[in-house]
Amino acid sequence: MPLVKSRAISLKSYRLGETSKVVVCYTRDYGKVRLVAKGARKGGGRLGAALEPMQVSGVVFYLRQERDLLLVSQADVERQWPELRRDMVRMAYAGAALELTDALVSEREPDPGLFDLLESALDRAAGAPPSSLDAVLWRFELSLASALGYAPELARCAVCAGAPEGGVSFAAGRGGIVCGDCLAEEPGARPLSDSAARLLASMSTPAGEIPSEPGSAVPDADIPAVVRDEISETLMGFLEEHAGRELKLKSLDFLAQIRRTGRHPVESEQVESEQENEG
Ligand SMILES: [Zn+2]
Repeated sequence: MPLVKSRAISLKSYRLGETSKVVVCYTRDYGKVRLVAKGARKGGGRLGAALEPMQVSGVVFYLRQERDLLLVSQADVERQWPELRRDMVRMAYAGAALELTDALVSEREPDPGLFDLLESALDRAAGAPPSSLDAVLWRFELSLASALGYAPELARCAVCAGAPEGGVSFAAGRGGIVCGDCLAEEPGARPLSDSAARLLASMSTPAGEIPSEPGSAVPDADIPAVVRDEISETLMGFLEEHAGRELKLKSLDFLAQIRRTGRHPVESEQVESEQENEG
């Protein structure tokens, strides 16, 4: 029963019995694992505090291949971002990255590069200018797709490989954009505005490479809300195509609510408790 140590980011947690909780973590060395933190619900304690979301911790746990739940023996906070706790909008962007990782990544498939991407996404969500937060999430989504082996084709037509000139659509099932000539073959494709098509193309990278930051042709602050929505929906639709199901992310619902109403709909305590929800 080897005791192992890894850096870890908590993705979500749910209760286990009266006093313990299961924390689903993405660890740098062992991938996504389910860790049992005994006594973490009873007053929290150091273990519970170190396994809160929105931070990086060093965790020590018993690795047993045949077990679904792994017992934590020690956890210490290594890196925190107070901005993410103070600012609910930033927290929601970071939360979306955590939720997507949980939804799309299989358990126990280590990928240190993906761990670093997730840590970097939290860091960017905490520190990027407010107008760049959408782009932080878009780049994380593209990086995640790339790490999982299905980076979309954003610069050339996914059907004929031609450089499209106007009238570009996005075909999630095809894995990227399609030109006007090939559109007839992809009736379900979503037409893109020229601005959205240009922005997506600017985030394109050769297969297997991680989108650089900042990589957009347009300063983030100048991207109109309607184009932001277009890109956000296009990328989510693409990830859902790969997930094979609708991804209902609480963080994105919350952000959509803010967009609609122009203000924060709930107090921060409620959002923090949402992170603790079962699921
Ligand atoms: Zn084409």
